[in-house]
Amino acid sequence: MSQILQAVRGMNDILPAEAELWELFEETVCSWLKAYGYRPIRMPIVEPTPLFKRAIGEVTDIVEKEMYSFVDGLNGEALTLRPEGTAGCVRAAIQHNLTSTPQRLYYLGQMFRHERPQKGRYRQFHQVGVEAFGYAGPDIDAEQILMGARLWGDLGLDGIELQINSLGQAEERARHRAELIAHFERHAELLDEDAKRRLHTNPLRILDSKNQAMQELCAAAPKLIDFLGEASLEHFEGVQSVLKNAGLPYVVNPRLVRGLDYYNLTVFEWVTDRLGAQGTVCAGGRYDGLVEQLGGKPTPACGFAMGVERLIALIQEADGVPEPAAPDVYLVHQGEMATRLAFQVAEGLRDQGMNVLQHCGGGSFKSQMKKADASGAPFAVIIGDDEATAGEAQLKPLRAGGGEQRRVGVEHLAEAIIDQLLDSEEE
Ligand code: ATP
Ligand code: MG
Repeated sequence: MSQILQAVRGMNDILPAEAELWELFEETVCSWLKAYGYRPIRMPIVEPTPLFKRAIGEVTDIVEKEMYSFVDGLNGEALTLRPEGTAGCVRAAIQHNLTSTPQRLYYLGQMFRHERPQKGRYRQFHQVGVEAFGYAGPDIDAEQILMGARLWGDLGLDGIELQINSLGQAEERARHRAELIAHFERHAELLDEDAKRRLHTNPLRILDSKNQAMQELCAAAPKLIDFLGEASLEHFEGVQSVLKNAGLPYVVNPRLVRGLDYYNLTVFEWVTDRLGAQGTVCAGGRYDGLVEQLGGKPTPACGFAMGVERLIALIQEADGVPEPAAPDVYLVHQGEMATRLAFQVAEGLRDQGMNVLQHCGGGSFKSQMKKADASGAPFAVIIGDDEATAGEAQLKPLRAGGGEQRRVGVEHLAEAIIDQLLDSEEE
């Protein structure tokens, strides 16, 4: 016997019971985004590798060790499965000249990172990404943060904490960086391998370290906020004043630096303690330099991405998995004439907006009726050759209090079903 094939490690099948929850989630997310004027955009899953190197930064976890990169065997092009959506979205916006006017855009889809799979961390995962181009002021940052709060409410989630910080501008980070390197050099014996490697390339990222042994050293490091100039502080204040007016609680976390290089000014994360170590469900911030860096006209930008698997896990913990939606009608039929009519009846009921599960695969009336009961449908429609000859069908209510079984002309079937539904609602 040949070996059973398995999915790639860290890449999950989402089976129907869970996929139904994903669909509900996506519906909620799409109407939430529309309520804020965001419009959909869909980018390819594969992009040229240099896009990510330039956008995300060479000395980041993603580019150094998490990308699925390969050479296209047919033309030698260096390609990468997208590890995040912002780079591709900016690329698309530049390529199609979307940045000449302000834009609010969103997308949803698979991302790929070669990480160690564990709860809340997969090699294929999904993000909802939100990007706004052409808005320089703190109002859009604040609006994007408020959006999160509304979505958690729409999804019935609570206990998700908001952390914010400001990364200032490049010059401010440069002065802070010099001090930071000096601080870490004074304690060189405490640095782990990653930190040593990053000390002179990307010391800010050392602060993002998850290594417990370095937490104290990081906590004592010079804080970026103390190096921010007036304009940066004003922007940060602007964001905070909107949050305060809205009564939205938040924590300023000076160690929030984000794992990607392109951010400036506002950064934020929404974090829960209910998912263990993988607690960040949404993260984002401002990236004013990226559009120009990727070859576009200078365009301020701000965005965030949510981890769908982590949010789904939270929803499951809060509500459990919803019951699968039952069909309105289970259609039972036996005999050649009956089956011909059954196909017509099923399409006719669907024309009236009903969900019809037509029995397939034959079998006795008794075995078909068992399936009808198990389907959860409130009605079975039963057609034998006898009914078919008369152009009729049996309408059999399956739920208690649904009324008597009766024979109805097929042209009146939809009407009869609706009448019975209304009757049983009145009772
Ligand atoms: P983390 O610190 O958890 O590695 P990150 O900073 O790398 O997250 P971002 O690049 O900001 O993550 O992506 C935004 C969100 O996407 C994260 O907050 C998280 O919810 C989700 N996410 C990121 N990587 C994964 C993954 N490997 N599996 C599942 N979800 C992920
Ligand atoms: Mg990561």
